[in-house]
Amino acid sequence: MVRVRFAPSPTGSLHLGNALTAVANRRFADSAGGVLVLRIDDTDPSRAVDGGEAEILGDLAWLGVRCDEGPVRQSERGPLYAEAVERALASRSAERDAEGAVRLLRGGTTLLRADGTATYQLASVADDLDLNITHVIRGNDHRPNLEIQQRIARALGGELPDVIHHGLVLGQDGKKLSKRHGHSSIAELRDEGFPPEAVRAYLDELDLPEHDVHLDLARLRRLAIDTIAAMSDDDLAAAVGAPVEVVPVLRGARSLLEAKDYASLALEPAPTNLTPEARPTLDRFVELREQAPERLSPAEARAILRELKAVGGDLRALRLALTGAETGPELAAVVAAVSREDALARAARAGGA
Ligand code: GLU
Repeated sequence: MVRVRFAPSPTGSLHLGNALTAVANRRFADSAGGVLVLRIDDTDPSRAVDGGEAEILGDLAWLGVRCDEGPVRQSERGPLYAEAVERALASRSAERDAEGAVRLLRGGTTLLRADGTATYQLASVADDLDLNITHVIRGNDHRPNLEIQQRIARALGGELPDVIHHGLVLGQDGKKLSKRHGHSSIAELRDEGFPPEAVRAYLDELDLPEHDVHLDLARLRRLAIDTIAAMSDDDLAAAVGAPVEVVPVLRGARSLLEAKDYASLALEPAPTNLTPEARPTLDRFVELREQAPERLSPAEARAILRELKAVGGDLRALRLALTGAETGPELAAVVAAVSREDALARAARAGGA
């Protein structure tokens, strides 16, 4: 039975590269009918942040990465590590120094600090063995740990699982992803309005990169557009928190954030006062809108706009009257989404009537 683990440190929202590791582990488990264990690597209290674990759980849920077991917290497994160290001491693979720290004889890697706490190296290997992990899939920044960890595994009387190192996701400038880049963590991507399905699709596309890859923001944006276009009306309305009637307005949005902006332009536009030149357009619009049904199909809305244009109407002024903004969603979609009553009221207000 394949058993893999995703082992983040609880330092807050996952970086895109860590998210890649999580997604890759899930895929690997799924392809083999195996199990994914979530392990929280919190042996270093100075790196842990408050709420860091909760944030990671939220990120995984958002990405649709299900974990079958865990979270297993290293901070709660001190006795397991102490017992592992005893084994290494008993087999004479490690020795305790005068201060009480325990080190491997070969290579001198510290297993246990003088205060009795386990190092990352020891905890990671002891857990991989104890949790019966069969494959480790992680970023290639851990490649230097491989040999050390194989040695520790043998000192503990076991063998390290097979390890696959994948390339990291770097910023577009080729540097390690950081806040400075933007779009670097799952929290940032969520706040920027990327739909989770788009981020997941992007990470699935990257698969298991052999070498480091540069974040392809254009591709991520393309996937966001495609995802929004493919969402059902109900799903899109729910993702934006808007009534389903305004969905036509949201369709052209490039992110869920932009879709939210579009929804508020349609639902609660800022008031505008237009100059008298806009008057004939608004008057004609009011006439056409009064004769039309309470709710319009997009085709009916487009017909009204065509008629307005045919008489030289100023569609920019109509957009301002209906949405309070110069730019935004497709105008016909707005005309279709806004009820007759609201459309007439907005036209009247903008025209100073
Ligand atoms: N806690 C390590 C990290 O977040 C994981 C190490 C490993 O997968 O072995 O990078």
